[in-house]
Amino acid sequence: MAEFTLELNDDQKQVRDWLHGFAADVIRPAASEWDEREETPWPVIQEAAKVGIYSLDFYAQQFFDPTGLGIPMAMEELFWGDAGIALSIVGTGLAAVGVLANGTEEQIGTWIPQMYGDANDVKVAAFCSSEPDAGSDVASMRTRAVYDQAKDEWVLNGTKTWATNGGIANVHVVVAVVDAEVGSKGHASFIVPPDTPGLSQGQKFKKHGIRASHTAEVVLEDVRVPGHCLLGGKEKLDQRLARAHERAASGDGERVKNAAMATFEASRPAVGAMAVGTARAAYEVALDYAKTRTQFGRPIIDNQGVAFQLADMRTQIDAARLLVWRASWMAAAGKPFESAEGSMSKLYASETAKKVTAQAIQILGGNGFTREYPVERMHRDAAIYTIFEGTSEIQRLVIARTLSGMPIR
Ligand SMILES: Cc1cc2nc3c(=O)[nH]c(=O)nc-3n(C[C@H](O)[C@H](O)[C@H](O)COP(=O)(O)OP(=O)(O)OC[C@H]3O[C@@H](n4cnc5c(N)ncnc54)[C@H](O)[C@@H]3O)c2cc1C
Repeated sequence: MAEFTLELNDDQKQVRDWLHGFAADVIRPAASEWDEREETPWPVIQEAAKVGIYSLDFYAQQFFDPTGLGIPMAMEELFWGDAGIALSIVGTGLAAVGVLANGTEEQIGTWIPQMYGDANDVKVAAFCSSEPDAGSDVASMRTRAVYDQAKDEWVLNGTKTWATNGGIANVHVVVAVVDAEVGSKGHASFIVPPDTPGLSQGQKFKKHGIRASHTAEVVLEDVRVPGHCLLGGKEKLDQRLARAHERAASGDGERVKNAAMATFEASRPAVGAMAVGTARAAYEVALDYAKTRTQFGRPIIDNQGVAFQLADMRTQIDAARLLVWRASWMAAAGKPFESAEGSMSKLYASETAKKVTAQAIQILGGNGFTREYPVERMHRDAAIYTIFEGTSEIQRLVIARTLSGMPIR
């Protein structure tokens, strides 16, 4: 187990500087264009693939960094460049992690390469869990997967919503109910291979922020996938369902629900790191502006009213990063999240990003309110962090339940 340290090692510094260069030279200059176009920035993803940033190898390397800091460092730098484009680059990772976490070695080897494609023909993947009536309340999921034993196929029906890359993905990972009696323990994940009949894109959403990232409904109508597309396999699923039924019968249902919520603890710091990247980007623009914009014969930073805002912004960003790094190290070290430290990091970092980007607009005055400067886009982008991967209210619910041991509603 790696000791916790705030000093990045030489390899990490090299990766960070390389990512920062890509974010500064390729992502940031393209940000405004793709935000306006509201389209997936395929050429930028392709550039990322060419240099090795858009690849399973790169994510696996960061994911298995024993210090736990590989992923948060990568997320912060890419999202510092631009949140919408960065999400287009890392969105496939959501689906890939779903397969890495639940799939067999064969499934990992078969499907993850198809999620990324290659530098000459890049592909993306989508992770489809949310539904119109099952957002925060994942247990209300309605999409059903029914096993057709005669054909060894699963038949999927339902409507997914808010899927990043939904409908444009080569591979979709779809979460569906296989046993409605045991809540979220009765959910299973399925691979829907490329060009499977019955899967179609529904509405593509026009969004407030992260507009370079494609978000859409995914409609599943009698989608038949082979038995080997059930992640983890049927035997493991049957055992898991049997255990869930035993627990439910022994009146341990609440513990089952809380255990399901706890599984997100390890992934939430990565979203916190994205928020830190956006907040830092806006803070840097505001700091530069405050030092060069002159009013009443002096730079506006000479006023405590402006300088103290910048002091608070930087303090909160650093505090957010520390919470993110702590939780990321805990996940890598296999430490239990006894105080929901993963949720704490996501809650604090996402709220900080919203606050800091709003302050950056204020510091830039009229310019901050225009699309000539990037802070208004960063503020629009920052709003997503308190919503996806669990809203701020859900983070507080998880933290409060974890601290108190009470089923707080
Ligand atoms: C741009 C974008 C990309 C996304 N990408 C994906 C993706 O790739 N895959 C995927 O599966 N999903 C994705 N999502 C879905 C996202 O995870 C959900 O939007 C989120 O979980 C919230 O669900 P909801 O939108 O249905 O809000 P709701 O759950 O309806 O919540 C509405 C409001 O009520 C509050 N609330 C709800 N329950 C409680 C409670 N018990 N206590 C207090 N307050 C409560 C919420 O905090 C929120 O403020 C994405 C969403 C967006 C906007």
